[in-house]
Amino acid sequence: TATKEHLSFQTEVKQLLKLMIHSLYSNKEIFLRELISNASDAADKLRFEGLTDGALYESDSELKIRVSYDAAERTITVADNGIGMSRQEVIDHIGTIAKSGTREFFSSLTGDQAKDAHLIGQFGVGFYSAFIVSDKVTLITRRAGLRPEHGVRWESGGEGDYTLETVEKTDRGTQVILHLREGEDDLLNGWRLRSIIRKYSDHITLPILMKKEEWSQEKNENTITDEDETVNQASALWARPKSEITPEQYNEFYKHVAHDFEPPLAYVHARVEGKQEYTQLLYIPSRAPFDLYDRESRHGIKLYVRRIFIMDDAKQLLPNYLRFVRGVIDSNDLPLNVSREILQESKDIEAIRAGAVKKVLGLLEDLAQGQHEEQQDQQDQQDQQDREGQEDEDKKGEGTKFETFWKEFGQVIKEGIGEDYANRERIAKLLRFVSTHADTDEQTVSLSDYLARMKEGQEKIYYVTADSLKAARNSPHLEVFRKKGIEVLLLSERVDEWLVANLTEFEGKQLQSVAKGSLDLGKLEDEAEKKEQEKEADEYKELTEKIKGILGEQVKDVRVTLRLTESPACLVADSHDMSGNLERLLKSAGQ
Ligand code: ADP
Ligand code: MG
Repeated sequence: TATKEHLSFQTEVKQLLKLMIHSLYSNKEIFLRELISNASDAADKLRFEGLTDGALYESDSELKIRVSYDAAERTITVADNGIGMSRQEVIDHIGTIAKSGTREFFSSLTGDQAKDAHLIGQFGVGFYSAFIVSDKVTLITRRAGLRPEHGVRWESGGEGDYTLETVEKTDRGTQVILHLREGEDDLLNGWRLRSIIRKYSDHITLPILMKKEEWSQEKNENTITDEDETVNQASALWARPKSEITPEQYNEFYKHVAHDFEPPLAYVHARVEGKQEYTQLLYIPSRAPFDLYDRESRHGIKLYVRRIFIMDDAKQLLPNYLRFVRGVIDSNDLPLNVSREILQESKDIEAIRAGAVKKVLGLLEDLAQGQHEEQQDQQDQQDQQDREGQEDEDKKGEGTKFETFWKEFGQVIKEGIGEDYANRERIAKLLRFVSTHADTDEQTVSLSDYLARMKEGQEKIYYVTADSLKAARNSPHLEVFRKKGIEVLLLSERVDEWLVANLTEFEGKQLQSVAKGSLDLGKLEDEAEKKEQEKEADEYKELTEKIKGILGEQVKDVRVTLRLTESPACLVADSHDMSGNLERLLKSAGQ
């Protein structure tokens, strides 16, 4: 009765599938991690929706994941009783990549497999990793709350199209059946599957069940019994004592919560006691996601209350400028029925959020001081093992963790200066800039470095803003500073105008644009120079008046200056006006 529909994958999915199968093959076991991770997410979604609609549990409230295999059929099956999917959801989520930046991602591929493997890892391929080991995948699902006859059967050979059918499915949830490729029979082994689960999915809080196996004397082989056995620890990783968690377990947990293929850059795990009791396990990714600037992007922290999952992407738990942080916060005090609306107003949440910000800033300060580097070594080693047999050329082993962090997330941290008044000082210390001190385009100069190099008599921190580093470096406003050997910060990112509008001083020293106002170098200017300027202003009064007359409304004033050594003239903004660069930015934004 049911008709079979043939549908085609999105072009990007086709490309991704092809590339992935080749580039991730050396690490093929991860398919199981990805499918289990999805099953666990599906259970979380059911719990979240179940908070307001208990009927979704359909008298089956013990959420679990089941892994089984059939040696004769050559299949492996991962099944869950989570939220399931409707027909439309299958079409939208399986066979389409909804992420922003998909096109950019594909255009950034080099064709070099080792490099692309890195990129693919960064993009995340989740469900599609099933095709690394399968030449056919069947997914049968039914969404919680829909009737049994609204089940959906999806099937694909991973070549470019898939089929969809409506089927009957009595039990809620999703079942993914992998039909193994030729030569993958080593996976049809209970011991092997258990060891893969323990390696990658031990941290999953739901039980992952497999049927117990027993040695049969009679058949002279292992036989699968009817008895269930939980393969993973099935307890909340963050609730275990730190000393009992290995770096690998921390990493695998990160990959699950962050939907990332690569290990994190650093993490902090802490239990907070006192008025608010909670545990936080927060991670900084190694790379910025493609959608860091996408308002719709999925971000935030997983919220638990006494180990019970409450919601994903709780954006209220961290400010916007820390939106790249991933992890969990588990509160002892919040009510179990906490909703997003309650989160927005809760004083308890405010306290938790302030605590989480402190922890993250503390972690970043540690990184800036070169701590946690040993963690990196361990990770690099694991990384290496993960990609065994694969040349790993563009290893980002050079540079410290903080340098990596700043490259990936520095622009976002800069937003914090305007967003988080209470922590402005701490954030300011983390900032890194390009300056005239060194001839490099890398942002490496901190404000403290700058202060330590200030000239005798210098009272201000000087900067120039422009729409490119090159323009900043060639600014005529820098001439007098070069002459006097005074360092100037070169600001060329969009967010920099916002930054200097909000950061007016650092450790008692004012930040001053070199392109604003009459340049008062204070004690840096000697008396003779001042006299000379006055004298010249008098001498050229006639000329400046004439120019002013010609330019008319276009300028406020025309002055003689000492700030130029080579250029004949330059534009200067009034001290209280917008900088020229900001004006340009606003214009380009249509304002
Ligand atoms: P991600 O997990 O990062 O979203 P995946 O490729 O792993 O990416 O999964 C894509 C989407 O398919 C999921 O976001 C989810 O909506 C859906 N999905 C996959 N597996 C399941 C499952 N077992 N139950 C319900 N939905 C699923
Ligand atoms: Mg996934």
